[in-house]
Amino acid sequence: MTFRASVLTLYPEMFPGPLGHSLAGEGLRGGLWSLETHQIREHGIGRHLKVDDSPAGGGAGMVLRCDVLAAAIDAAVPADDTRPRLLMSPRGRPLSQLMVRDFVAGAGVVIVCGRFEGVDERVIEGRGLTEVSIGDYILSGGEMAALVLLDACVRLIPGVMGKEASGAEESFENGLLEYPHYTRPREWEGRGLPEALLSGDHARIARWRREQAERLTRERRPDLLGDDQEKQVVPNEPRQRR
Ligand code: SAH
Repeated sequence: MTFRASVLTLYPEMFPGPLGHSLAGEGLRGGLWSLETHQIREHGIGRHLKVDDSPAGGGAGMVLRCDVLAAAIDAAVPADDTRPRLLMSPRGRPLSQLMVRDFVAGAGVVIVCGRFEGVDERVIEGRGLTEVSIGDYILSGGEMAALVLLDACVRLIPGVMGKEASGAEESFENGLLEYPHYTRPREWEGRGLPEALLSGDHARIARWRREQAERLTRERRPDLLGDDQEKQVVPNEPRQRR
């Protein structure tokens, strides 16, 4: 089963964009995942294919019409399609590695990209859209947010990243930020390597990495260390980094 992404947008030319490059791009060309875009404007109203209108109740900006968006969704997504229907939105549930894992475990995602002030609330309910945010800041449209979400998904698809596919040690995967990485040269501008990493003692290396991960998480993201802190601290197995 390949991961299928369907994106509804006023700017289909923004896709695959960065996802056409590097490992995601190779995976796309190799059929490990697929991407289709749907131009919302094809369902616009009248000769000018109007997709937006001024906000009910007044105020600045324009709002994407619910009828136009619903028509675009209905044309792009069959009624029996089980994929989650997402709306990129700063009001949404914050995107997390757990959510990404869930998406990848399924058949793919349908993503609606907002523009302007946002979309008419009624279509969110009427078409069962789940709002997803990529962070507490405002973008000019949902396209880059969709690319971020898809990038996080695609790298977890088996085969896309080769050996590293499980990503089990990445930041957030075990409730911790990742430990620091080092490579050659052994000495650089007077800075050496942490001694544990030179020891060849795998248990010691694993212990050092776990301690570093815990330290960094305490310092930078104490919010990740909830009540069940102990449970979340999973010892890291040593592994080869490319
Ligand atoms: N007026 C809205 C922001 C609209 S920004 C508000 O205050 O909530 C225009 C579009 O960009 C949104 O409809 C959404 O699709 C996208 N967008 C902006 N910021 C985003 C974010 N942090 N995460 C996901 N999508 C975002």
